[in-house]
Amino acid sequence: MKVAIIGTGYVGLPTGVGFAALRHHVTCVDSDRGKISRLSNGDLPIFENGLEDIFMESLSAGKIEFTTSMEKGIAGADVVIITVGTPTDPTTHTIELKYVRQAADQLAKFLKKYAVIAVKSTVAVGTCDEVEQIIRQRNPHAEFDVISMPEFLREGFAVHDFFNPDRIVVGTDSMRAKNVIGKLYEPLEKKSRILYVGRRSGEMIKYASNAFLAIKIHYINEVANLCEKTGADIEEVALGIGMDSRIGDKFLKPGPGYGGSCFPKDTSAMVSMGRQNNTNLRLVEMAIAENSKRKDEMANRILDSLGGIDSPKVAILGLAFKGGTDDCRESPAIEIIEKLLGKGVKIVAFDPKAMANAKTLLGDNITYATDACAAAKEADLLVVATEWDEFGSLDLERIKASIGRPKIFDMRNVIDANLARKLGFSLYGIGKQWHGGGK
Ligand code: NAD
Repeated sequence: MKVAIIGTGYVGLPTGVGFAALRHHVTCVDSDRGKISRLSNGDLPIFENGLEDIFMESLSAGKIEFTTSMEKGIAGADVVIITVGTPTDPTTHTIELKYVRQAADQLAKFLKKYAVIAVKSTVAVGTCDEVEQIIRQRNPHAEFDVISMPEFLREGFAVHDFFNPDRIVVGTDSMRAKNVIGKLYEPLEKKSRILYVGRRSGEMIKYASNAFLAIKIHYINEVANLCEKTGADIEEVALGIGMDSRIGDKFLKPGPGYGGSCFPKDTSAMVSMGRQNNTNLRLVEMAIAENSKRKDEMANRILDSLGGIDSPKVAILGLAFKGGTDDCRESPAIEIIEKLLGKGVKIVAFDPKAMANAKTLLGDNITYATDACAAAKEADLLVVATEWDEFGSLDLERIKASIGRPKIFDMRNVIDANLARKLGFSLYGIGKQWHGGGK
């Protein structure tokens, strides 16, 4: 089949590469010339685990191509997948749909044969109706169906999730569109469950899922706070909770609060949708407010543990919003660093993949180290802010030899506590007790 992807970012690129690996012919369209030129030359503009190999294979097999031309991208496509960004409007806090509208407007006139237009961007309920109207107005003779096909991939696992989706949600009543989507995912048949629902339900499922996960993260952070006060250990508690199949064992890891390009914006868009529809979503509102406070709490814990030190220096390990990605959008690490900088703390940071993106946000206000050991040199405190696997096996002995004060605040609970204690570190985790000598 011929597949066009409109918007080649963290969702569009793994999706396009995935369909190309399934032997469909994929054309990715993006308005960003620099991105398209890099991609055409075999240079991935984002880091995503496992993406590079299948990208290079598909590119050299001629199964995927990149263009800035909507006309070229749409030509002959059976399915057009819209994956452009839908950021939050900074003033109204509602979802910004202008890129989706633009994409619909730009692609309409190039529809020459029946195509399914699948909206994969996360959009307010009712947006697919609007996309349909835009296309119909621009090209009244076009034959098409607009469907909702929300994306659930996890950054850092996007490739795995493409090939092993929990479910594929398809919002449409059109039998013709259902047949096309069935064929699109046929190569994944044994691994995928397609759930056909109404178009508005498809749009709502995405928000309801993300808000639920955000609430779950907020909940485990609250339980972690209580563990710290009562002497329980959050990891043991999470294990015990997660074994209940009604609850499930995922998203029970405490930390510095959720971030990234999805949860903050999707929860806030859902609350706006609630307001517009006179519907109370207090639980979601509370998760947003408390998640925002969580970053202050983390920064305050760091400042407390630096009490009395003149011009303190803190080493931060991890800048991405989570491990496995270079994405720093709404990263708790960045927000906490900004708070610490405001209090005169000197920051030296290291991230295995996200330094370039972090630099666009933090500029030269911090020092960027070449590795974890270099970051820790002469630091008064080492903070693990992102759960990169490699931070779980740091060379603590080497770090101990050069760090200013042997103190670690592990916001992701990845450090080997026994080893840290043996080496004489004072270690503080989330929802755990102080190790090796307290604050
Ligand atoms: P992104 O910012 O990484 O990529 C969007 C791309 O769209 C950019 O490259 C931009 O240049 C391009 N674009 C914008 N307007 C265009 C146009 N008219 N024509 C062609 N290209 C255009 O965004 P993302 O993180 O990939 O997110 C895309 C959508 O998917 C959003 O709605 C997001 O909420 C949703 N989503 C994201 C994730 C995630 O993990 N990032 C997961 C699920 C859903």
